Amino acid sequence: MVRINPKSTSDDHSGSIDEMKKILSNQKALFINEPNIAWLKRKENLKKLGSIIKDHESDFINAISKDFGNRASEETIIAEMLVIQGGINHALKHTPKWMRTRKAPTALQFKPAYNRVIPQPLGVIGIMSPWNYPLQLAVMPLIGALGAGNRAMIKPSEYTPLFSKLLKKVLGKVFSEDEVYVALGGVDVATCFSSLHFDHLIFTGSTNVGRIVAKSAAANLVPCTLELGGKSPAIIDESANLKTAVARLTNAKLLNAGQTCVAPDYLLMPKSQVSDFASAMISQAETFYPEFAGNKDYTSIIADSHYARLQNLLEDAENKGAKIRVAGNDDKQQLAKERRIPLTIVTETTPDMKIMQEEIFGPLLPILESESLNESLEYISKRDRPLALYWFGKNKNKLNRVLKESISGGVTINDATWHVIQEDIPFGGVGPSGMGAYHGEVGFRTFSHMKGVFFQSKFSQGSKLHPPYGPMASKMINLMKKIM
Ligand code: NAD
Repeated sequence: MVRINPKSTSDDHSGSIDEMKKILSNQKALFINEPNIAWLKRKENLKKLGSIIKDHESDFINAISKDFGNRASEETIIAEMLVIQGGINHALKHTPKWMRTRKAPTALQFKPAYNRVIPQPLGVIGIMSPWNYPLQLAVMPLIGALGAGNRAMIKPSEYTPLFSKLLKKVLGKVFSEDEVYVALGGVDVATCFSSLHFDHLIFTGSTNVGRIVAKSAAANLVPCTLELGGKSPAIIDESANLKTAVARLTNAKLLNAGQTCVAPDYLLMPKSQVSDFASAMISQAETFYPEFAGNKDYTSIIADSHYARLQNLLEDAENKGAKIRVAGNDDKQQLAKERRIPLTIVTETTPDMKIMQEEIFGPLLPILESESLNESLEYISKRDRPLALYWFGKNKNKLNRVLKESISGGVTINDATWHVIQEDIPFGGVGPSGMGAYHGEVGFRTFSHMKGVFFQSKFSQGSKLHPPYGPMASKMINLMKKIM
């Protein structure tokens, strides 16, 4: 996605390079003094994080809504507050077990020595987050970082300045800046932030900026988790329950007005189904939102630049022969004033259209005709690996083929987006949609060093393997050749 015209102003800045370097150096020094924060302290950190966010629920709802122009309070509760609550409760329940030293098997030739894996906090975690779910995507990595015993520095997006300021204020009530620090500012601050010597950096955002951030982190050999975007397809099989598919896809696509990293980006289905499916989605959208303009339940597009970008995708598709169907009957000028775009279905699409090439990140939904599963899988596998993939149907053989023959960050079957909030499975992309994963135990491991330790025994066979090599060494080597 192209970024222009961010909303930040100079008074949003609190992230000068000197300040960030000083905080990082303090955090690192404190970490050296206390390299293994005990469970009780981690538990206290997670609990106070959860309570302070809950206490400020309405402030977050208001700030995010103002930053967007409008965001339904229910969407902020469902997709941000509840996800965080689930993440914290899961971490509180399971972290003591994840923190334990684990026994690991030891090969026969090394016994009676033994192996252990000791999870160890890394130190200071850098967290860079986007604007689309600004609270969830700053705090979910923070839960993983704190649960694993780290300190953290966060750089939220400049597109949500009111939220970012509030986050800094709210976290500042329960954490010192030497525990959790929030850097405010624009791309200049983000650029400096990504060049800091963190012990791990997690970046959530676009693939283009992810490339820049990964390069900057690589210069310092800072390990990186990249949670990126991409075009997430939904395949509608002939065996699908179409009514259910229509309702679920419309809901998933219009949540946050399509500004969701795992929103279904485009549909693949047989030509014979396209027209009925498109009509059904339009009418489902009109049931969800009897009007789009002025509707408190419908989210605005974050910024004029993104609104223009989406209009541009439509224009390009129309110029290249696509058919456009817009839900509702709202006044166009009013919609534009409120930066709202109703569900817009684009049919008769071709792969050369921009809408089929870049991540949409808005309520436009192209449908690409595909007559068979082979055709759909081939289309998907010849392109960048998507962050999410959806399949609707009942045919078990086809389902198995989809799971085995496609590669995507994650999958939801017969619905969309839900895999993201399962704390017991990893969440992350693959290839251009991301690198690494977090949430739940996988997140704990991402923000820990899983240290392998070999405990040598009094009776080490290996200690006989030393120069000058004589008959004893030959005997040992022959024995090892047999058992290894
Ligand atoms: P973005 O990449 O523009 O910005 C993300 C972060 O990068 C922000 O904090 C910003 O300050 C910083 N940044 C911007 N330019 C930078 C630069 N040149 N150098 C260093 N840092 C820079 O992304 P966005 O527009 O905020 O978010 C939308 C994108 O994020 C979409 O592509 C979406 O798919 C993706 N996303 C992915 C996930 C996921 O979990 N995989 C979740 C949400 C959004």
